[in-house]
Amino acid sequence: MLKQRTLKSLTRAVGVGLHSGQRVEITLRPSQPDTGIVFRRVDLPQPVDIPVSAPAVTDTRMASTLSKGGAKVQTIEHLMSACAGLGLDNLYVDITAEEVPILDGSAASFVFLLQSAGIALQNAPKRFLRVNKLVEVREGEGASLKWARLEPYNGYKLSFEIVFDHPAVDSTGQRVEFDMGRDSYSRDIARARTFGFTKDVEMMRSNGLALGGGLDNAIVMDDYKVLNAEGLRYDDEFVKHKLLDAIGDLYCVGKPLLASYSAFRSGHALNNKLLRELLTREDAWDIVTFEDESLAPAGFSQLARAW
Ligand SMILES: [Zn+2]
Repeated sequence: MLKQRTLKSLTRAVGVGLHSGQRVEITLRPSQPDTGIVFRRVDLPQPVDIPVSAPAVTDTRMASTLSKGGAKVQTIEHLMSACAGLGLDNLYVDITAEEVPILDGSAASFVFLLQSAGIALQNAPKRFLRVNKLVEVREGEGASLKWARLEPYNGYKLSFEIVFDHPAVDSTGQRVEFDMGRDSYSRDIARARTFGFTKDVEMMRSNGLALGGGLDNAIVMDDYKVLNAEGLRYDDEFVKHKLLDAIGDLYCVGKPLLASYSAFRSGHALNNKLLRELLTREDAWDIVTFEDESLAPAGFSQLARAW
């Protein structure tokens, strides 16, 4: 049986929120089968549990925010991406403020944390959401066109295309593909950092955004070039980060997908809209498990090893 996974032990990290600039501590803890990923605001007078689900994602400006009642947790996408990349099904995330720490701006720090805690197999079948029909969302026209779609595929693959008219981005790849059965999330995707332009920073800060952002947790560009002294981690780091974000956004559906995702200039908002569209189309998906793990699609059966 291809089993669900949680952590072997708990692990902690301290950092600042990218947008809030607030100091925050997170504690990642093992949880029971079928719990899913649950954020717990432990700083509130009464702790509030916020389970991850597509409808719980309520604000998608610049980051994905979960909320329940008046409680929220902002910028969950890089941690969610790491959980998807390592095939973690069940986890509690205790958090002491309303934003997940940005750490190095990529998912690599979360991958390191989760791997250090160890992955445990649980005695319950891993449930996948299998896409059986094409589902697509589109916005805008001409130069402002964006779209995202899910199609049937026996495995999990993603392709993402960006269009940034900027010398530092133009000179790198603007399209990337990732297939769980062929590529390594930790090696090929997880290290891609978030990025921003100095010309937008002032506007963002006056709107209370990017207060914790800087050269140690983002690629920063002026009108011509990358300002980080160390340069890029991948030649196509920009589009790889957008794909990293999409993996995290899509994992908010609560289960790993069996699907092919493709997107053109998509972002957190459109990715969430795609999930909501998928969930309303009950004929377009079902839930599947693999009694015989050798029958699971490539990539997923390899993840079945604990470490
Ligand atoms: Zn991101």
